[in-house]
Amino acid sequence: MHDRTYPEGALVGVLTTEPLGRVLDYRAPEGGCGDGDFVEVPLGPRRVLGVVWGPGRGDWDIAKVRAVGRVLEAPPMRAELRAFLGRAADYTLTPLPQMLRLATRAPGLMEGAALRRVYRLGGVVPNQLTDARHRVVEALRAFQGAPMTLGELAEEAGCGTSVIKGLVKLGVVVEEEAPRDLPFPPLDPRGGPALQGDQVAAADALVAAVAAGEYSTTLLKGVTGSGKTEVYLEAVAECLRAGRQALVLLPEIALTAEFLKRVEARFGARPAEWHSGVTMTERRRVWKMVATGGASVVVGARSALFLPYQRLGLIVVDEEHDTSYKQEEGVLYNARDMGVLRASIVGCPVVLASATPSLETWANVEAGKYGRLDLSARFGAAEMPEMRAIDMRAEKLPADRWVSESLAGQVAARVAAGEQAMLFLNRRGYAPVTLCRACGHQVGCDHCDARMVEHRFQKRLVCHQCGATKPVPVACPACGVEGRMAAVGPGVERLAEEVAARFPEARVAVLSSDLFGSARALKAQIEAIAGGEADIIIGTQIVAKGHNFPLLTLVGVIDADLGLQGSDLRAAERTFQLMRQVAGRAGRAEGRKGVALLQTHQPEHPVIRAILGGDEEAFWRAEAAERRAAGVPPYGRMAGIILSSPDVAQVFDFAGELARRDGPLRRVGAQVFGPAPAPIARVRGRHRVRLLVKAEKGVALQAALADWVAQLKPPANLRLAIDIDPQSF
Ligand code: ADP
Ligand code: ZN
Repeated sequence: MHDRTYPEGALVGVLTTEPLGRVLDYRAPEGGCGDGDFVEVPLGPRRVLGVVWGPGRGDWDIAKVRAVGRVLEAPPMRAELRAFLGRAADYTLTPLPQMLRLATRAPGLMEGAALRRVYRLGGVVPNQLTDARHRVVEALRAFQGAPMTLGELAEEAGCGTSVIKGLVKLGVVVEEEAPRDLPFPPLDPRGGPALQGDQVAAADALVAAVAAGEYSTTLLKGVTGSGKTEVYLEAVAECLRAGRQALVLLPEIALTAEFLKRVEARFGARPAEWHSGVTMTERRRVWKMVATGGASVVVGARSALFLPYQRLGLIVVDEEHDTSYKQEEGVLYNARDMGVLRASIVGCPVVLASATPSLETWANVEAGKYGRLDLSARFGAAEMPEMRAIDMRAEKLPADRWVSESLAGQVAARVAAGEQAMLFLNRRGYAPVTLCRACGHQVGCDHCDARMVEHRFQKRLVCHQCGATKPVPVACPACGVEGRMAAVGPGVERLAEEVAARFPEARVAVLSSDLFGSARALKAQIEAIAGGEADIIIGTQIVAKGHNFPLLTLVGVIDADLGLQGSDLRAAERTFQLMRQVAGRAGRAEGRKGVALLQTHQPEHPVIRAILGGDEEAFWRAEAAERRAAGVPPYGRMAGIILSSPDVAQVFDFAGELARRDGPLRRVGAQVFGPAPAPIARVRGRHRVRLLVKAEKGVALQAALADWVAQLKPPANLRLAIDIDPQSF
């Protein structure tokens, strides 16, 4: 399993998770060590986690080289994962230690014994419990009986460890050995529905790709309900037959529950689950089982890409166009692209599934780099919904009303027929603007360059950028006049108010991420809706993502123009994808024809027309032509440099100086634009300034960027982050 081993005393290079930026020399410990071994090494007065990264460089005072403390009890990190971390670090210009942290966050490698004891619910829970004790029981129930360590449980329940110990004495909670070595039950690859039409050829192609065991990337394109999931599960089944592991990435934690159930129904057992909603104890088990082959399928969020797979045979990126695959904090990476990178290093196929692929993927298909499989029809009799515009200029709605007569009539008809209608508005909260009618002042966040959004359920104004809240003011903070503050514009909460007044008999459900304390509560709400416990569903972006509501036959988009405002070059692509996704929610069920109605003030806008007309290839070609002319991704390369500091003058000065010293960029033909205020110009009291770098495709941009930013050392309170392939430009 080791690539190289080193006898005791030999010089080895160890990469730690400490922010030092380089691999350090140590001496191999007693008994020797090998490449990829997890080790504990002394660093100054501390002992830190590291991985043996190769032979030592010997460029450090030999007398000062210290010995590795001990080799940790864990499967060594494979050469493939080390290579992936190295390449990912180079691509995203992230220091390697920070990259390593993504791959070592969960396992608790150094804690060892402290993590051996875990807690779960015992026998009978008494009715009368103190608040703190009740919270412990609730926390254990929330994770569906998954055991937790003392620390985790105390944190989840927000109580001291003595409360838990007390419950152990009562027998309500049981203390036991951690199930860290428990493998996942094997999945049975037989079964699955009989595929039909073009599903057959698509599944055959993917199965062949898995069997070949070589790198390839394939776009699996088909409208919602066309059977993409059934088709890629065939490839997963082939993986199981071949004794390899499969990773399925989903963009949203709320989607995992439904998906896991489906996998369980198909393969007879639950696969491993990996995301921030999974307890640390369970994540430790997954980490270990993935490394030792005790888990054959992992369903997870983007961080599942950094698990130590033993024999990875397939990566699926579902809803590949989804913007939440882009990690926007810490290490800035796009999980779709990193999935392709890892697969190319491992030598296995990647499947990118989507009804509305990203322009990047579309362009890679056109360039012949990715394959493409199409599922042209919805499964069974279900058809794509009919899409129509409602011209809001003709509707003449009174102020403070957002549902047109035309749309309301349709909603009433669907509800009367016992079906469901969904109203989509991509705005959380009650009203996006709180304004003083006396002086026109708009209430903004004290720390960010953002307006405060009123949330009636919370009875507060909330900043959607930093989460700061304040009470809704009675008097204007600017002019002091009382009683003239007004909520302006709609959010989903306000829309719900209008709908409730208009359809007093209907059961109305609001789906918005902030209305639910946890992913679990959200899941429960989604299941209730799918089970028919609501007539009208009001939702933000989360309703667009893959949930299956069989009774839903009408989708009304309250403001189809919302995404088209602003100067972002991706606005058209985003709006097109979002509107098609949302519309795709309607009429999934067999025998019911769905309708999608888009309220718009500009029905003649080319993007709105493309959405309604449904000629996707024409839309992509037009988008591609515009991007090519502008020289922007995917036809050119871009990077954003975000500089931030509490001191606005300092950050502009620094950015200006950096922009002037553009020699290293000009040498590769790259140009720098800015400085300009970043898309989010102030967050948590820090002023953010952006430089945009543009280069032609095929340019070694990362090397040039590294040389460029290395010229100037940022002052202590100034932060610099490089965002390769930024989401907005
Ligand atoms: P997508 O992933 O493209 O949205 P799904 O794979 O979820 O589509 O399929 C939509 C629905 O149709 C699911 O309930 C699925 O089980 C069902 N389905 C798709 N193909 C078949 C098939 N060949 N036989 C039986 N049911 C199918
Ligand atoms: Zn704020």
